This record gives sequence, C-alpha cells and structure tokens, in this order.
Amino acid sequence: MIPIARPMIGEEEKAAVLAVLESGQLAQGEQVARFEEAFARFCGVRYAVATSSGTTALHIALLALGIGPGDEVLTTPFTFIASANAILFCGARPAFCDIQPDTFNLDPESAEAVLRRRRAQGKRVRAILPVHLFGHLCDMPAILDLAARYDLLVLEDACQSHGAALDGKKAGSFATGCFSFYPTKNITTGEGGMITTDDEAIAERCRLLRDHGQRRRYHHETLGYNFRMTNIAAAIGLAQLEKLPRHTEMRIRNAAYLTAHLKDLPHVIPPTVRPGYTHVFHQYTVRIRGDRDRAVEELRNRGIGTGVYYPLPVHHQPLYRQMGYDDSLPEAERACREVLSLPVHPALSQEDLKTIVEAVASLPT
Ligand SMILES: *Cc1c(COP(=O)(O)O)cnc(C)c1O
Repeated sequence: MIPIARPMIGEEEKAAVLAVLESGQLAQGEQVARFEEAFARFCGVRYAVATSSGTTALHIALLALGIGPGDEVLTTPFTFIASANAILFCGARPAFCDIQPDTFNLDPESAEAVLRRRRAQGKRVRAILPVHLFGHLCDMPAILDLAARYDLLVLEDACQSHGAALDGKKAGSFATGCFSFYPTKNITTGEGGMITTDDEAIAERCRLLRDHGQRRRYHHETLGYNFRMTNIAAAIGLAQLEKLPRHTEMRIRNAAYLTAHLKDLPHVIPPTVRPGYTHVFHQYTVRIRGDRDRAVEELRNRGIGTGVYYPLPVHHQPLYRQMGYDDSLPEAERACREVLSLPVHPALSQEDLKTIVEAVASLPT
C-alpha cells in the first residue's frame, strides 16, 4: 500500500529525543526556546511561540488578538474543523465565505460580500481567518487590503503551509500565523503547534495564555491554559526543520511529475499554482470529473491510499447545523463532492509515482 502520508523520521530525530530523555528536562525548556527561534527565522518573523497543537495555537492566537463573545470572524468552510472551532472556543462565531475554485482558498470577494451583509445586520465582524489550504497561500494581498479597508484583524491558519510563499514572503509572516506539527503535516513533532508574529505584545500574550497566565512561577495574571510544547517534541521539530527545505523540494518535484502525467486526462483536474506562489504540496489535490467515491475505491484496490479533504464543509457539519448554520456556499460544497488527494509526500519512490499515474489514468471516466 502506498500511504497518503508518512512522517519522515530518521536517526537525527531519534538521537535528539534520546538526548532530551537523558537530560531529564522533558517539559517546556531549552529545546522549545531553540525551536521557536529557528522557526521564527524560517518564517522570517521576529517571534514564534510553541504550543501543544495547531488547534491550541489558533485558540490562544485568537484570544491574544482580543476575539471574544459577540465577535464574528470571517473564514472558509472548506477546511479542517479546527479552523472554525477555534473561533467557537473564544465565544465568537465564524461567518463562512465561499472559496476560489482554482486554489480552494477563501475568496476575498465573497468575504467582502459576507462582511457587508453581516455588518448591515448589526453583527460585529472583527477579524478574518484565511486558511492556506493544501500548501498554497491565500490571496494575501487582497485579504490584507480587505482587512485594511474594513479594519479587520487577520490570523493566518498556516497549519498546512510551512514554507509556502508569495514572491518569497512566507506563510505566517503576512499577519499573525498558526502552524501544526501533527504527524501528517509537512514537518512533525508528534503533536505540536506554533504561533508566528512580528508583534511583541501578541507574542507575550500567547506566552501567558499557553502557560496558565503566569510570567513568574505561581503568579497568575490572567486565565491561561496548559498548551505548552514538551522539549521532547521540540527536539524532534528542530531535526525536522533542518530537513524541511529538502523535503519540500521533493514534494514539489513529485507534484510536478504527477501534473505532467495527469494534466491531459479528461476526468482529472490537477491542482493550480498561481504565478509568484510557492505551493508546498501538503496535499496534491485533484478534482475528479465522475464518480469520486468510486475512484477512491478503485485506487485502494490498486494499493494507493488517497484522502478526501474534506467530504463535508464546516457549515454542514452536524455541530454547525445544530447551531443554525444554513449558508449556501456553492464552490465550497462542490469542492467537497469533487476533491481527491493523491500521495505526494517525500517518501514516494519513482516507482510509486508511476503506479499512481497509471492507476489514475485507468480510472473509469
Ligand atoms: C491540522 C490542521 C489544524 C489543527 O492542527 P492540530 O495540530 O491537528 O491541532 C488546523 N487547521 C488546519 C487547516 C489543519 O490542517
């Protein structure tokens, strides 16, 4: 079986973990500080704050921005549930916008229309949470322009986009950003997350919120959480970060091979990379013209693991239905019916890539 994802763990990660275990300093400490510094440098920002997951990073970053009850946050429904749930954790409410069909990302024009409508209804729309899905940045110039015109705070969900860029400017450096180091992501720490920012006050608030609101031990200034990263996780992250540029190159090369061999098939639409953008291919996601669910099954029978990210838009999830969400967002809903992610990770061999291409080419149309 060719899996849809595989963490790339080598001798470096194993040695780094052993060293931490032998040191006896297992919880947040020196390795976490070093990982934060290295990750900030990688993203081209001044501060990075490590957390226990991408979800907890989103949660406290929103709190640090001052999002709370009565606020609304513009976001995409075509994402992992955590992007929207983080807004709920703060007592605020997501306002869902439609997506751009080529990149699957939040459509700034739809966001502007939703914003104007919600504000006309007296709702307090205070922020926008673009998600850089599958490794392709959102149209950040348009989103930052929208934010400036309507006085919106911006939080980037970059959980799938470590190193993704526009004209060399990296994800997490356009505004405050959140990353995940879950094992399927482009780099992993087992579980883990990171907040990136150039704003010292936001970094400071995030540090407080992740550690029970204490700057000084047992002096609690505010209601905080235990969302800390361990030194064990950070040691893995430091080793992974060293390898990330090479692994990203491999993802890009694998994606180029797949696109070259799939682009002329009538039943497959390969992913788009807009000019100037560096797509880091967390997922290689095509649209299937025809029976997508049958394609999943046929590929599984030929030993190829695939993923459907995502089969349901967030506003159609039972949780959100129960909350009364009944938006119609046609592009997001169509994407849920058509998308299929093929393996693109760095562990693929040339033979694997050939197998994938042949299997996709032979799908019934
Ligand atoms: C993975 C992911 C998250 C959450 O990250 P965890 O580390 O699993 O908590 C949030 N948003 C998106 C878009 C993700 O892909």
